[in-house]
Amino acid sequence: NSVIFWHRRDLRVSDNIGLSKAYQHSSKLVGLFCLDTDILNQDNVAPARITYMLGCLQDLRESYQQLGGQLLIFQGNPTQIIPQVADALKVDCVFWNNDVEPYSKKRDNQVIEALQERGIHSQTYWDQLLHAPGDILTKSNNAPYKVYTPFWRSWLKEEKANIAQALGKLESLSEEEINTVKNLGIIDLPTAKDLGYSWDAPLILEPGETAAKEQLNYFCDSLIYNYQEQRNYPGINGTSTLSPAFKFGVIGIREVWQATLSAYENTYSDEARENIQTWQQEIAWREFYQHCMYFFPELATGPYRQEFKDFSWDNNEQHFQAWCEGKTGYPIVDAAMRQLNETGWMHNRCRMIVASFLTKDLIINWQWGEKYFMQKLIDGDLSANNGGWQWSASSGMDPKPLRIFNPASQAQKYDPDGEYIRLWVPEISSLDTEYLVTGKIPPLEAHSCGYLQPIVDHKQQQREFKERYKQIKN
Ligand code: FAD
Repeated sequence: NSVIFWHRRDLRVSDNIGLSKAYQHSSKLVGLFCLDTDILNQDNVAPARITYMLGCLQDLRESYQQLGGQLLIFQGNPTQIIPQVADALKVDCVFWNNDVEPYSKKRDNQVIEALQERGIHSQTYWDQLLHAPGDILTKSNNAPYKVYTPFWRSWLKEEKANIAQALGKLESLSEEEINTVKNLGIIDLPTAKDLGYSWDAPLILEPGETAAKEQLNYFCDSLIYNYQEQRNYPGINGTSTLSPAFKFGVIGIREVWQATLSAYENTYSDEARENIQTWQQEIAWREFYQHCMYFFPELATGPYRQEFKDFSWDNNEQHFQAWCEGKTGYPIVDAAMRQLNETGWMHNRCRMIVASFLTKDLIINWQWGEKYFMQKLIDGDLSANNGGWQWSASSGMDPKPLRIFNPASQAQKYDPDGEYIRLWVPEISSLDTEYLVTGKIPPLEAHSCGYLQPIVDHKQQQREFKERYKQIKN
């Protein structure tokens, strides 16, 4: 009997738990992906992200062909399409991997019910995390952690699963079988343009499993050993740039973990090992935010701290526009926003700087920034993005200390030669480094380069923010 494996955020064939289980059930396995129109119709779709995802789908389709099988691509509403296709193909069971997002949880439950009504089983697995929600709970009262550090300690101690079993040859569907599902919404793989998005710039990571694995190996053979320090400098390629692959599950998390353990074995230096552990901590941040989203779905729609609902934001539209376009007159902020707009990716240090600037200097609701990031980021992910924004806005679970970044000290420390600023804000690239990193560009010089004066005063805004913050705390 045949089975369906429904791909969502696991666009790969290797180290895929649900897919591996489906294969153990039957080698007459067909892969299915549904371009969910509800998701495509939202106004937070990023052209770079769609482009990357479609590239990964093409790669996945080829992987299926190499195994002798098929990946069928549909467009529409999965709660209707999955049960209809399962019915038409007369499969025993539909397999997939779970997701933590509130939307996906609801959708998946609807699919389970619709399958049940037709007498078809469903089997779901946790695949994208090393530890599923509920596996890491506080010792004192078996509750989800709300603070990262104790979560990390307990997460690290838990045993991690091995790489999932590889697939063998697949048995393909017959022409006749495929014909039965042809009118249920099957499409040829579209381009981003077909879907109404255009993206011409190079992507930070090539789509597909092979590219993600190569990047993982490259990172774990070299950059990981200096990660702790190098990751802070946006002008240096010191991080893995694997975030799009993590977002779409183009690389298996157990494989990633194994790669870090191998890097650990390949060195005897305590310092190098500390660097590896720092990267492992980032993997744990990703898991932490996903666990938080799973247990506290209300995070997706508002501040975790209720008192923040009354915070008096300025929400100045012009300031927001200037921030989006990288025209605030703060060189490090502008550089970062232009990197985002031009490449669909932004360095983590800069994500923290611009998020702090939007919320604490422009006093604009963090949700505006969260949405703008989703509209641009190749790795835009509800849990990580929301986690990052609530952390920066101090509206999240762990608001202490009150985080206010000073753009000038950040640039002085992390872009000391102004390399990153020069790259992304070319109109000021010939000015003295001192001007670039302090942001104190004499008005005449700024004017002759066509660069703006700062749209707000950091010191004054910081005082203002603290005043308003005090009011909600009382
Ligand atoms: P590396 O430094 O190589 O880290 C490895 C992986 O660990 C990343 O690919 C990512 O999957 C995970 N990771 C690292 N840092 C974090 C973190 N703070 N939170 C969660 N996961 C992390 N990351 C996203 O993947 N999607 C987002 O939409 C996103 N939005 C963010 C918004 C804000 C305001 C902030 C402050 C951070 C955000 N991050 C987001 C986290 C982080 O900036 C990116 O994961 C990282 O810059 C990606 O680059 P990298 O792959 O080279 O990371």
